[in-house]
Amino acid sequence: MALRTVAAGAALGAFAAFRTSEPAQCRKSTVPAPKPTDPIFDFTYKPFKLGKVINLTSDTAIFRFLLPNADDVFDLQPISTLQAFYQEGMGGFDQCQRCYTPITANGEKGYFDLIVKKQKQGRMTEHLFSMKVGDSLQFRAFHYKFDFDPEKWKAIGLIGGGSGITPLLQIIRGSLARSPTTKLDLLFGNRSEDNILLKGSLDELAEQSNGLFTPHYTVDHVNREWKGMTGIIDAAKIKKTMPPPGPNMRLFVCGPDKFMSNICGTPVFVAAQWSRSNPLQPFAAIGHSNAQDLGGVLKDLGYNSDMVYRF
Ligand SMILES: Cc1cc2nc3c(=O)[nH]c(=O)nc-3n(C[C@H](O)[C@H](O)[C@H](O)COP(=O)(O)OP(=O)(O)OC[C@H]3O[C@@H](n4cnc5c(N)ncnc54)[C@H](O)[C@@H]3O)c2cc1C
Repeated sequence: MALRTVAAGAALGAFAAFRTSEPAQCRKSTVPAPKPTDPIFDFTYKPFKLGKVINLTSDTAIFRFLLPNADDVFDLQPISTLQAFYQEGMGGFDQCQRCYTPITANGEKGYFDLIVKKQKQGRMTEHLFSMKVGDSLQFRAFHYKFDFDPEKWKAIGLIGGGSGITPLLQIIRGSLARSPTTKLDLLFGNRSEDNILLKGSLDELAEQSNGLFTPHYTVDHVNREWKGMTGIIDAAKIKKTMPPPGPNMRLFVCGPDKFMSNICGTPVFVAAQWSRSNPLQPFAAIGHSNAQDLGGVLKDLGYNSDMVYRF
């Protein structure tokens, strides 16, 4: 497998180059093409071939999967996600299914990209990181039963940690495409400046948004001159960057278990259902976290469960 390690700080530049220089052979696929009336993604698992892998940091990579045909158009509406699946052995529990939200913009042709953080002894991520170009992985689409209509809200706040950016990016793109007035603020925490995932894409979206979208970055460790915020996401940073509680706003939050527990009060046993090596991740139309009362920093700041969607 031809892996290219890129300096994470230049990840987006590399990513852009990666997008334009895809070799033709990566587009060949023996996966049967769906009938013209079939959607590419539905609720049935279908195999998609791995076309390329790009390492971004020591434990995070972009995995490009090929659509059945080079001119197939990628289209996945907010708020939906893909579920990856593979059979680890013969038994009923020897199967692994995990959610990943592609980072590909709707309208791209021939592929979709996942950005994935490798977990120690993670069932799916160990498998993914061991896959070779040309291997297939099964995917199906899952749509959250959530009425995503950004025109209903004057302001959307997005709070993300690490690879939790992926569903938030889908929302940012979806809102910018549909609403010419809804303001978007992203508060995004990462380990260091070099680890800010998709910073190039986010900055580009901000530049093209006519002032509608503003990203705010915070990093745990500063390596060099850094003009953004430092330290973990806390009440002061949320107060400074997010829309205040009110009827015309909505927050979306996605990050690791401890992050969700601290910011939203998501009980550890609830978060762990998604992240403790179970064969299947539970899925529910509104997400299990949303069935719990909001807690954590957001509750202390006056937000309630109706104002905050938790992935
Ligand atoms: C809607 C949604 C979208 C997502 N999108 C993305 C995305 O775009 N990119 C991304 O990288 N991830 C994403 N995720 C997370 C992803 O679904 C997986 O949870 C993640 O990749 C880990 O899966 P795994 O099978 O490799 O790890 P698992 O096997 O589930 O293990 C996860 C971690 O838990 C640890 N662990 C296992 N058992 C225990 C135990 N008993 N006690 C303590 N720790 C334990 C493991 O060592 C490992 O570190 C998303 C999740 C959701 C719900």
